[in-house]
Amino acid sequence: MDKLLLIGIDGADFNIVRELLNNNKLKNLASISENGYFSRLVSTIPPLSPAAWTSIFTGVPPHKHGIWGFLKQKEGEYFYKPITSKDRKHKAIWNLLTEKNKRSIIVNIPFSYPPGRINGIMITGLGSPGKDSNFVYPQSLKKFILDNFPNFDVDLNEGKLEEGYSIYKLEKNIIKTEEDLVNLFIHLLNNNDWDFSAIVLRSLDVIQHFAFDNKMFVEKHYERIDKLVGRILEEVVNGKEDIKIIIASDHGFRKVYKRFYVNTWLEKEGYLKLKSSHNPLLKLGIDAEKIRGFMKRLGLKGIVGKIEHSKFVKHLLKILPSSSHQYLFNADWSQTKAFFYRGSNGLIKINVEGREPQGCVNINDVVKLSEEIKSKLEKIVDPTTGTKVFRNVFLKWDLGIDSYEFPEIILLPNEGYEICDYNMNGYLFEDVHGRPGDHGLFGIFMSNFEPPIKVECVWDVGKLIKKEVI
Ligand SMILES: [Zn+2]
Repeated sequence: MDKLLLIGIDGADFNIVRELLNNNKLKNLASISENGYFSRLVSTIPPLSPAAWTSIFTGVPPHKHGIWGFLKQKEGEYFYKPITSKDRKHKAIWNLLTEKNKRSIIVNIPFSYPPGRINGIMITGLGSPGKDSNFVYPQSLKKFILDNFPNFDVDLNEGKLEEGYSIYKLEKNIIKTEEDLVNLFIHLLNNNDWDFSAIVLRSLDVIQHFAFDNKMFVEKHYERIDKLVGRILEEVVNGKEDIKIIIASDHGFRKVYKRFYVNTWLEKEGYLKLKSSHNPLLKLGIDAEKIRGFMKRLGLKGIVGKIEHSKFVKHLLKILPSSSHQYLFNADWSQTKAFFYRGSNGLIKINVEGREPQGCVNINDVVKLSEEIKSKLEKIVDPTTGTKVFRNVFLKWDLGIDSYEFPEIILLPNEGYEICDYNMNGYLFEDVHGRPGDHGLFGIFMSNFEPPIKVECVWDVGKLIKKEVI
């Protein structure tokens, strides 16, 4: 019986991989696709890791599996919580295989925490609280992992990078963590029975977010990932013909230099209403995020971490205005018709009566209102360049999404533009500093066999058409 090995490469971009393959720089990936298949993979829209990886492992789109972004609106509230595997409404491949008595080894899949009971082994990835948490099933393996793979971790210093640490300083750390992850994967595969195994290598996503303007640096890391794939091929596959291999990424990458704040725009257009748009503390320049950043710069990082977890400070942060959260605490939901869904990278929800906690838009008016907002968004132009901000603005019905819960409007920005939430200074646009890369629509699919079904995607009058080629 054949086995299936899936190596996920987060953020591997189709154009970059194709160019490096043509220049003979990715020998191991080339050895897989030479007698098999290599093609473009169209990500979810918006292209976002939690949504896209969950689609890869469930086989269904985000409106069916329920993971739209990094956050999920809390039941009965407009506030959000981080997503976990419990929010997944569809069985993943390892659940289906468990039902068929097949064994899986699953390592570092984003947002697979908490690990469920499966027939096999599961080590969760990004979205796990940390190495202290129960990130592994069966739990008896935890001590073995921590004792034998000292650089193992469930994330790649993302927190530090968001705080402003340099990617170049963290590079060695990231490499070591990922190497130990591959060592662990190889060890598990060679010492356990399995029918299906999967690992996601996440470093290319992190590196491209923070260094996409440095082509040589980025390409060096594509070549490093190719070598890690080579190790798995040599130490696990080793010429065994019963192992089928798939290499896939969740999305591609693109350069960004300008941010567009969607909730700020919705407020200016009168769709999002704030109770008092000018918090007196903001006028004094007091902002929770600024204070946090200032203390960290003073080298008080550890203290900030500790006090942020105290109940008192959590309460204080709610009172202090914060540039990205302010509207949430201050919104007049009974007057708000539409809002940007935080952490979704491009979804707008209509405040539908009966669906949202304080919904005020009648269900019969939802389509008309969505069309009105869409046509305004389509016309938005960056005043400094004259470029349209959005490449496409879709309504969910245009894409065949029939889910009642799913946000109504889906945004796909043009080259160079990144979508953000809220700007407390009221700016619609802002230059991007220090984070020059964002997700692109086209990732990769590669296999050492001819896939039985191929789906070809083409753009046609602004719409994405999927065509099955058998
Ligand atoms: Zn990703």
